[in-house]
Amino acid sequence: MSATDTTATEYETVIGLEIHVQLATNTKMFCGCALSFGEPPNTRTCPVCLGLPGALPVANAEAIHYGLMMGMALGSTLAPRSIFHRKNYFYPDSPKGYQISQYDEPLCLGGQLGDVRIHRVHLEEDAAKLVHVGASGRLHASDASIVDFNRCGTPLAEIVTEPDLRDASTAAEWLRMLRATLRTLGVSDVNMEEGSLRCDANISIRPVGSTELGTKTELKNMNSFRYIERGIRAEVARQTAIVRAGGQVEQETLHFDPRTEAITSLRSKEEAHDYRYFPEPDLSPVAITPDMLERAQAALPELPLARAERFERDLGLSADSAHLLAFRTELGDFFEAALGENGSQAAEPQPLANWVANELVARLGTDADPAASNVAPGALARLVAMVGAKQVTQGGARQVLDKLVAGGGDPDAIVAAEGLGAVGGSDELAPIVEAALAANPDVADRLRGGEMKPIGVIVGHVMRETKGRADGGEITRLVREQLGL
Ligand code: ADP
Ligand code: ZN
Ligand code: MG
Repeated sequence: MSATDTTATEYETVIGLEIHVQLATNTKMFCGCALSFGEPPNTRTCPVCLGLPGALPVANAEAIHYGLMMGMALGSTLAPRSIFHRKNYFYPDSPKGYQISQYDEPLCLGGQLGDVRIHRVHLEEDAAKLVHVGASGRLHASDASIVDFNRCGTPLAEIVTEPDLRDASTAAEWLRMLRATLRTLGVSDVNMEEGSLRCDANISIRPVGSTELGTKTELKNMNSFRYIERGIRAEVARQTAIVRAGGQVEQETLHFDPRTEAITSLRSKEEAHDYRYFPEPDLSPVAITPDMLERAQAALPELPLARAERFERDLGLSADSAHLLAFRTELGDFFEAALGENGSQAAEPQPLANWVANELVARLGTDADPAASNVAPGALARLVAMVGAKQVTQGGARQVLDKLVAGGGDPDAIVAAEGLGAVGGSDELAPIVEAALAANPDVADRLRGGEMKPIGVIVGHVMRETKGRADGGEITRLVREQLGL
């Protein structure tokens, strides 16, 4: 039994996520500065987001609108009245010495997405970006931290889940569902690499059967789905080893290094901040009006869970395919675009879904957007239709897809140019099967004797002869026919 298997039977993992989402508003949370997308440092600032004395914040109505849309999509209770607080801390990324955030009266309370309950969603502002210059690790005259205030004041929504997740891969999968939901809502770019979607994972373990929560640690700011999965696995392994050795997990904030898998402490419980929250005196409470609710409701598009249901119900996709495509918005969009461009010789939805989810993803990478690839949706639909009509075999079609991924183009033209068309009807295939049986008399005898396993030898032989352009089912049929089975 491997270490992970033992963990699974002795201890249960408990995970709660805290997700920060940069909202795709036109302007910052409390001032009129435009959001920044890589402009020269400190060119998108004003007295408010620089925290100059006397400057007064005004809450961004668009950010509140997005917050309400998120709350509605997550089934939260929308607070008729919510307020902003000052969260005090001293660090160069915060020119005011505090972050304006929400504390005990957030915009959205409760809710649920899939199997995971939402604790709350609140609005706040992002910090400035610190750039550390010089990497010696020791203090040299040339070492410094410089500050870019362009990001300072960018609207953020923080989504906090209940501790309802039980393993690393489910956590990553749920986060994909949340990302798809936010992306579909259009409230954020949700780009993990660029930091518009950031996730902290709270992790604890407890004996299987226990209903009490164990002491948790918090893994900070992991910027890809893979790192989140690996980080949680590594932390669960670390906690399990501590508990097995008779020790106790300490509550602390941790950093996971995806290169080395090392987990290091950022701060312990003793070093936890006391933020001295108090109500922001310069902002009035957010009071939700019926008009605001109506506008948010009207702006809600079809959400991924509903899309998955529609894929199952209307297109007959398997539940797995439907969820996979719906929770990876880019794949779902590509799939629907391909279906929409389906010509007269239609590709069936399920095979098309399989080609998108398996073959295309295998070639482009899990998190790539196929719309940005060389493969046109219509080209994939046509290819899948050709497979369905047995004009090209699975193997041949895979080669065509390689070409499409490499340089785009038209599947019919590629099939013709590369000679990848399926070896046609039995007229063409029969002599090749006959030759294969003649070349393997022992196999032919065993087949005649009623053993079916060795038929793979004949199929393999024919596939080699035809360079994979023959249909496996048709070969089997011809073998039976020729041997009188
Ligand atoms: P804190 O006060 O330390 O911020 P919260 O109660 O606000 O803790 O919870 C923060 C996040 O941690 C939430 O997502 C919550 O679901 C999760 N969480 C809380 N306790 C645990 C635990 N024992 N194990 C795993 N996750 C937890
Ligand atoms: Zn500003
Ligand atoms: Mg908290």
